[in-house]
Parts: sequence; structure tokens; C-alpha cells
Amino acid sequence: MDDDTTDAMPWHTPVIEALRAGDHNRVADLDANGTPGFDGDKALGERLLEERGGVLSDLQEMLYACGRTGDNRAVLLILQGMDTAGKGGMVRHVVGHVDPQGVDHAAFGVPSPEEKRHHFLWRIAKALPRGGQLGVFDRSHYEDVLVARVRNLVPESVWSKRYDEINQFEHEIVGTGTVLVKVAMFVSLDEQKKRLRERLERRDKHWKYNPNDVSERPLWPAYQDAYQDMLDKTSTDYAPWYVVPCDRKWYSRIAVTELLIEALEGLDLDWPAPTFDIEVEKRRLAES
Ligand code: AMP
Ligand code: MG
Repeated sequence: MDDDTTDAMPWHTPVIEALRAGDHNRVADLDANGTPGFDGDKALGERLLEERGGVLSDLQEMLYACGRTGDNRAVLLILQGMDTAGKGGMVRHVVGHVDPQGVDHAAFGVPSPEEKRHHFLWRIAKALPRGGQLGVFDRSHYEDVLVARVRNLVPESVWSKRYDEINQFEHEIVGTGTVLVKVAMFVSLDEQKKRLRERLERRDKHWKYNPNDVSERPLWPAYQDAYQDMLDKTSTDYAPWYVVPCDRKWYSRIAVTELLIEALEGLDLDWPAPTFDIEVEKRRLAES
């Protein structure tokens, strides 16, 4: 094997197979410390992240170039996970490989009073990426079948209808040329405790700590059920879910990098053709 390039060799199973939501990765039995499909260790994982991040960056540049010339295709990464699962780190360390000009990032928190007056998909539709963009959602419309369900923010008669609404909404999005990469991130209860403790112990992490996060911990089983239902009801052929164990950050990051590369490669992109005559322009340039 070439010394400088590890390529995708350490993957014994392609990520899209190893992580696709199904019977083999039920939430209740999931090993959040696992590294499905991957044989390497942390050192290899970290090296791979740099290498494959470069590949991701090249592909994204092509997507951006296509968008600049009128192509309306886009990729949207949806990150859904409990607090401390590493959503922010995913944005920094995976999406961080690509040119920020081509990234359209949106984070969804507790809906504002204005958002509350609208349908739950209103704020989501407004944030969808334009052609050529790599969109990133840090939380999403799925909060409306997760926290909204577990915390009884709306009655069951309301949230239970949302799965179909979401499927229909996503079907339309995919129809307009946006590829959805839906990533469900799972951290174990123990690892979450460790990460929350770190947020309390380190001055540079206090800003990340939210006392409410601790209040969600006893609700873990209810969240697990809600996550499982979400996966069962909204993992479709056109917008499948991927279940990513996140106790090892290096693993979750290379896994999502591969999912994005896969999505971009699936678009079969090419550099856009020039809208001018190259020979004429060379001559003009030489004479200028
Ligand atoms: P963070 O991502 O740490 O900034 O936290 C955002 C908070 O907003 C989390 O506690 C989410 O559960 C909450 N949140 C996001 N979307 C919704 C929603 N649609 N309804 C209620 N809470 C939400
Ligand atoms: Mg938080």
C-alpha cells in the first residue's frame, strides 16, 4: 500500500451499509463506543480525517462551482443527537475542511415566539441550502418529534402526525435536487456524564454547559424510544438515516466525512463548462 495515502482501506464495510438505520443497530442495543465498519485505531482515524477531508473539500468545491453556474443541486447534512454527542465538533472538524463560502449552516434551538406561531416546518424550509451549497443543520425538524414528544410540548395527536409530514416534506426537498444526509449521533449515558463534567471543570467550556442538559438525563429511556421511532418512521429510500456511535469522536468524524463524500460522489459532478470561448479569451489576455 502507498505510504502517503490510506485511502478508504481500513473500512471493511462501506459506511452507508455499516451505519444505515435498521435491525442491526437498534438504539437500545447500540454500542456508542463501537466503530462499525472500521478496523483502524484512533491514530489511523485522525490521519484519515485529514486525508479524506481533502477529498471532501475538492468535491464540495465542484458542487459550489456548479451552483455558481446555475445548477440547483445541494447537499444537506442533518445532525441530530443528544447534548454532548458532538454536533458542534462535527461542524468544526468535518465541515471545517471545506471552504466556508459554500457552507450554509443553521442551528435550531427552542423556537422563538414568531416560529411558534408557524407550522413546525416553516423555519426549516427557510433555512434549506441553495443550489451549490453544503447545508448543515445542527438539530432540525426532528426536535419536533423528539424533545416535543418526550417533554409533552404538544399532544400525541399532533406529534404522531409529524412523521408523515416530515417524510412528505423531505420527499419534496429531494425532488428539487438536494441530497439529505441524516445523521443520528449517539453518545452513551456515561460518556455524556464525562463530557458534561468537563464542561463544568474547564473555564473554556463553561459556556457550553446548560443546567437543562442534566434534567434530560433521567429521560434517557424516553428519548431512546423517541429516537427509535424517528428512525423507524422516517428512514426512507430517498432520505435514509445513518446511526453513528459517538463516544469516540475520531470515529464519528471519519464516518460522517465518508457519508458526505458518498453523497457528493453520488451527484456525479463535473467542473462546469466555460460560458466563454477559451481561445478568444487567451488571445485577448495576451494582447492586453
Ligand atoms: P443547543 O443545541 O445545545 O444550543 O440547545 C438547543 C435546545 O433547543 C435543545 O435543548 C433542544 O432540545 C431545543 N430545541 C430545539 N428545537 C426545538 C423544538 N422544536 N422545540 C423545543 N425545543 C427545541
Ligand atoms: Mg447544548
